[in-house]
Amino acid sequence: MRDNTFKISYSRINTFLFCPEKYRLIYIENKYIPLNAGISFGNSIHKTLDHFYKNSLNSCEALIDSLNLCWESSGYETPQEVYVNYLRANEILKDYWRTYGQYRAKNILTEKSFQTEIGEYPFIGIIDRIDENEDGTRELVDYKTHKEIWDQESVDNDLQLSLYCFACKKALGFIPEKIAIYFLSHNKKIYTARNDDKISRAIDLSLDTAKKINNNEFIPDTSKCGFCDFKKMCGYSAAKQTEENK
Ligand code: SF4
Repeated sequence: MRDNTFKISYSRINTFLFCPEKYRLIYIENKYIPLNAGISFGNSIHKTLDHFYKNSLNSCEALIDSLNLCWESSGYETPQEVYVNYLRANEILKDYWRTYGQYRAKNILTEKSFQTEIGEYPFIGIIDRIDENEDGTRELVDYKTHKEIWDQESVDNDLQLSLYCFACKKALGFIPEKIAIYFLSHNKKIYTARNDDKISRAIDLSLDTAKKINNNEFIPDTSKCGFCDFKKMCGYSAAKQTEENK
């Protein structure tokens, strides 16, 4: 029977596509991924930029002050790791300011939550940022804070951007003329585009995934265990079993 409280979000769809069992553990068993360095670092940077733009601040000093206010020290294993990552955050934000921040377009929305529908399901999410450029174009930006940078093909095929373009049109009433992922650790913004065909494929994938979730089709994908946050606690974990058999 369909769960009437079920909502589509990019995180839910992405989690199910990674491994249906991981979805079940998080969203049905209410198990939490322990806070780690990567998640904590990402939270600090997102909060810093949100604070900076929501308060209309406009200098590198104010950006670093925002970091000091928003920095989270939890999730790291040692004080040394906290310190190294705090310095890394400083460098990332100073690079950002030098390259983009001081020449930035008008920021019109930051950490904007939305609710709309995909098919019969509510669809929720948070868009990192929307800018208005000098030429009047609107630009949807998603921040990534991990150390790896994606190639153009991965950015072109990113499901989140496809779904957020759709949300922009349906919930916020406009189509962003520009779309980009900002890889902050590399100080590089990679632009992409979304046509109707790509957006409709993202919607079809989301609806198909929602159907599987509502049919309780939680078949574990043990090929992903080595990269999974639950590998030490999941009963299906191939990584855990290999460890135990040693
Ligand atoms: S440990 Fe493996 S089977 Fe378990 S949730 Fe993660 S990926 Fe899926």
